[in-house]
Amino acid sequence: MGLRALRRYLPYLRPYWGLVVIFGLSQLGSLAAAAAIPKVIQYIIDGPISHHQLGDIGPPVALLVVIGLLEFVFIYLRRNFSGMASLRMETDLRNDFYAHLQSLQVSFHDNWQSGQLLSRAISDIGTVRRFVSYGLIWFLQTIVTFAVVFVLMAQLDWQLAIVTVLCMLPIAYFSNRFHEKYKVIARRIQDQQGDLTTIIEEMATGVRIIKAFGRMPLMQARFDDMARRLGASNIEAIAERARLWTQLTLLPNLSLAAVLLLGGYSVSHGSLTVGGLIAFMNYVFMLTWPMDAIGWVLSMNEECKTAVQRLNEVMDSRPDIADLPGARAMERCKGRIELRGVGFKYPKSDAWILRDLNLTIEPGETLGLVGRTGSGKTTLAYLVPRLYDVTEGSVLLDGIDVRDLHLRSLRSHIGTAFEDPILFSASVHENLVMGRPIVSDEELKRALKVAQAEFVWDLPWGLETRVGEQGYTLSGGQRQRLALARAVLGSPPVLVLDDPLSSVDVHTEAVIERALASVLESVTSLLVVHRPSTLALADRVALIDGGRVAAVGTHAELMRTNPLYRALLSQEYEDSESRMVTA
Ligand code: ATP
Ligand code: MG
Repeated sequence: MGLRALRRYLPYLRPYWGLVVIFGLSQLGSLAAAAAIPKVIQYIIDGPISHHQLGDIGPPVALLVVIGLLEFVFIYLRRNFSGMASLRMETDLRNDFYAHLQSLQVSFHDNWQSGQLLSRAISDIGTVRRFVSYGLIWFLQTIVTFAVVFVLMAQLDWQLAIVTVLCMLPIAYFSNRFHEKYKVIARRIQDQQGDLTTIIEEMATGVRIIKAFGRMPLMQARFDDMARRLGASNIEAIAERARLWTQLTLLPNLSLAAVLLLGGYSVSHGSLTVGGLIAFMNYVFMLTWPMDAIGWVLSMNEECKTAVQRLNEVMDSRPDIADLPGARAMERCKGRIELRGVGFKYPKSDAWILRDLNLTIEPGETLGLVGRTGSGKTTLAYLVPRLYDVTEGSVLLDGIDVRDLHLRSLRSHIGTAFEDPILFSASVHENLVMGRPIVSDEELKRALKVAQAEFVWDLPWGLETRVGEQGYTLSGGQRQRLALARAVLGSPPVLVLDDPLSSVDVHTEAVIERALASVLESVTSLLVVHRPSTLALADRVALIDGGRVAAVGTHAELMRTNPLYRALLSQEYEDSESRMVTA
């Protein structure tokens, strides 16, 4: 039963136990009412009707109406309270799932399709909720109904009761067969839903490229194919469910026939009254609905187990990059960065991106990083705020291994801007502040000025203007300047800037550089650079090649002494020089 699989998530119901108790009581109430009705019918038939005393029929019929009304009220309460409890559980579980996703390291997200995460967060958690609010209840209801009905039947005629039970035994065989087949199909459906979600998500984020390359038919074909496969799996699931339900509904009819045959015999021999037989048949009818429910419960149960399995795959991933025991906060940060014998491989990859890399950046110094494309500059930049952890060696901040610091504390000292200036669908202000505690208007203005992002004042609602998803309502250069403003906001003592000016024009670049120079003066910064003009900001430059630091020195020294450095920069250098002249 999915109950075992669900055990991990059932504690989410705990805060709502009051609702669960009300639900349980109303469940029992509705069951008692339903079970009492055949008793009253039996009384009416064997009493006033058989004895032709129709004058006495009024009170028991009135009782029947009252019981019916009570059942109605209980059913209403049951539905309402089970729904409330399970919905709250769903909300809490989804919150925790999201929090867990956020706590997982970047490399986890490198390896998971976003659609698979999305489908887990939305549809799998919904499946768990449906099982809790319907499946589990029907399951309990069915068991209680069977037990109660069996006792009542046995009171009437124990032999008939045993025959009825025997007729129901094939349930075990049918449901086992169903379980074996359905678990495979349910898993496939849920995975395929994730794949389909991924395609939609990729289309939505990549719509510009898709249109520009005229790849709509290709994407459509991919989607069609996936949707068709999902459809086929669903049809398989429907067929399995239909088979189970047909088999299950057959059983009460089978037992009804047996009851009529044997019960008729008992009535003719006087061991059972006609009213008793009718009551007995009513009990068999009472089992028809639970038999239907078993079909539902079994399929929901499989779906829930699969959903829990899929949720566990994420919830069991432990954050690799988290606070170690004994990690400490850093009060004041001078900003000395040292990479000592650093080696790095991406998880799930065997290639060393960095190896035996040694580099020191003194407090207040600006170090430029230069290297061929793919040489590992961005990777190196990731290591400082611990977006990834080194595979060997260590990264030290003020002489302390970054892994010995509280993540929050470490990251609060580092301002970052990466190649891809990611913005969120929120206001410009929210994108800049990113939840940092108090940021004064002066600081905000200063950061916007340094990044030459003062265009924000001209946006329709100024800082409150919402930028579309991923900031797509802004130009590339505008996004980059906002990302830079975000990095320098709050004057962190360490700045890690990965090619922060690649999308701005030469003139703006020069203005930003001038403003940035005054900021960089007082902070330690790691500046990944592609354009020689930006190198003017760097006190020293490190050339990364073959995963290590091939040379360090001032720009002028390296230009003089290092052929690779010269080759990497001189062509562009000449280009940019000539652009400056013509500008
Ligand atoms: P560029 O100048 O083009 O920005 P870079 O020096 O910043 O290049 P990196 O982005 O650090 O280069 O990449 C270094 C190497 O690591 C590349 O060969 C790249 O293919 C590989 N790489 C980058 N990200 C990942 C990842 N998430 N998983 C596996 N390999 C990766
Ligand atoms: Mg890079």
